[in-house]
Amino acid sequence: MPNFERELPLGMANFGVFLGIPPHPTKCQATYIWIDGTGEHLRTKTRTLDRPPVKISEYPIWNYDGSSTGQAKGRSSDLYLKPVAHYPDPFLGGWSRLVLCETYDPEMKPTATNHRYTCKQIMDRVAAERPWFGMEQEYLLLDRDHYPLGWPKHGFPQPQGKYYCSVGSDRAFGREVVEAHYRACLYAGLTIAGTNAEVTPGQWEFQIGPVEGIAMGDQLWIARYLLHRVAESFGVVVSLDPKPNTTMTGEWNGAGCHTNVSTLKTRSPGGLEEIKRLLPKLGRFHQDHLRLYDPNGGRDNQKRLSGKFETSSANEYSFGIADRGASVRIPRQVADEGMGYFEDRRPSSNCDPYMVTGCIIAGTLL
Ligand code: ADP
Ligand code: MN
Ligand code: MN
Ligand code: MN
Ligand code: MN
Repeated sequence: MPNFERELPLGMANFGVFLGIPPHPTKCQATYIWIDGTGEHLRTKTRTLDRPPVKISEYPIWNYDGSSTGQAKGRSSDLYLKPVAHYPDPFLGGWSRLVLCETYDPEMKPTATNHRYTCKQIMDRVAAERPWFGMEQEYLLLDRDHYPLGWPKHGFPQPQGKYYCSVGSDRAFGREVVEAHYRACLYAGLTIAGTNAEVTPGQWEFQIGPVEGIAMGDQLWIARYLLHRVAESFGVVVSLDPKPNTTMTGEWNGAGCHTNVSTLKTRSPGGLEEIKRLLPKLGRFHQDHLRLYDPNGGRDNQKRLSGKFETSSANEYSFGIADRGASVRIPRQVADEGMGYFEDRRPSSNCDPYMVTGCIIAGTLL
C-alpha cells in the first residue's frame, strides 16, 4: 500500500474532498493559471508531472490556443505560458500545485494583458525601498442567472444598513463560500489578512497583505482563482464588476479594491512626512491612473466613483486623514503614530493588481 500520509505541503493531511480519492503519492497535478484577453478573467488547464518541482524554473513552459481566449487571431494562435509562481493546491491536495503563469506571444513578447511583465521591472527598480501592499478585494456573489445572491427574485432587498459585517440568514448571503475560500487561501500559503461582509447584500470582501513587491499581484490573482473555484463548487458566481447592472438602480454601494501602500521610509519614524511628500506626486497622474485602474479604460470604475457611497469623485484628486470620501486616505492611526501606510481608494474591484501597484510605485518613487 502506498503511504498517503507522507510529507505533504504545509504539513497538512490529504485533502481531496472534491474527489473522494486520495492524491497520488508521488505525481504532481500542475494546474497552470493565466489571465485571458479580457484582463479580468482567468483560464486554467492541468497536466501531470512525475514529481513536484522545487523551483519555479523547473516547470515546463507550456502553450495554449490564444484565439479561444481573446489573445490571438488567425492561424498562428499558439501562445506561451511561462510559470512565475507556485502554490500548494487546496482542491487536488497532495503534491499538486497551482502554477501562476505570464503569457507571451510567438516572438516571446508579453501579450497585451500581461501587465506583470512591466510591474516586475518597476518592482525590481525600487526593491531597496521595500514596498508593501495590502489589497481589499470586494466582490458580489450572484446566482447562476447573474442575479445577486440572496436578493428576492421579484423586487429588492431592504435598504443598506444591516448587511455590513452582518450575521443571520436574512442578511448574510453566501458565508459558506467566504469561509471555504479563506481556508483555501491559507492552505495555498497566501497572506490573507481577513474577510468581512460588505454594505450591499451578497457583497463580501477579503484582504491580501501586507505583501512585498510583485508578490502582491501574484497572490491577489491566485486568491481570485480560489474564489471562483470555491464558488463554482457551491453553484454560485463571483462578480468583480464594480457596479453590476442589477445594482445600478437603487442605492447600493459599488465594489472597489482599496490598495494600501507603504515603504521602508513611510513605516519608519518621520513616515507621515514621507507620505505627505508622495501623495501630491501621485495626484499628478490622477486621470491617467483612473484609465488604468480597471481593465476597460476607466469606464467600469466611472459608474462607481460618483462621490457618493463612500467613494471620491472621478473628476478630482484628493487626500486626507481618515477621509473615506477622498481619493487617498491616510488612516487615523497612521496620523497618530506618525508613520505607516496610505490607502488608494480608487482602484476598481476588477482592477489588475499588477497595473495598480505598478502605477502607484511609478507615480510616487520613479
Ligand atoms: P479598511 O479599514 O480600509 O477596511 P482593511 O482592514 O480591510 O482596512 O485592510 C487593510 C489592509 O492594509 C490589509 O490588507 C493589511 O494587510 C494592509 N496593511 C496593513 N499594514 C500595511 C502596511 N504597512 N503597508 C501596506 N499594507 C498594509
Ligand atoms: Mn486540444
Ligand atoms: Mn476593508
Ligand atoms: Mn470594503
Ligand atoms: Mn479600505
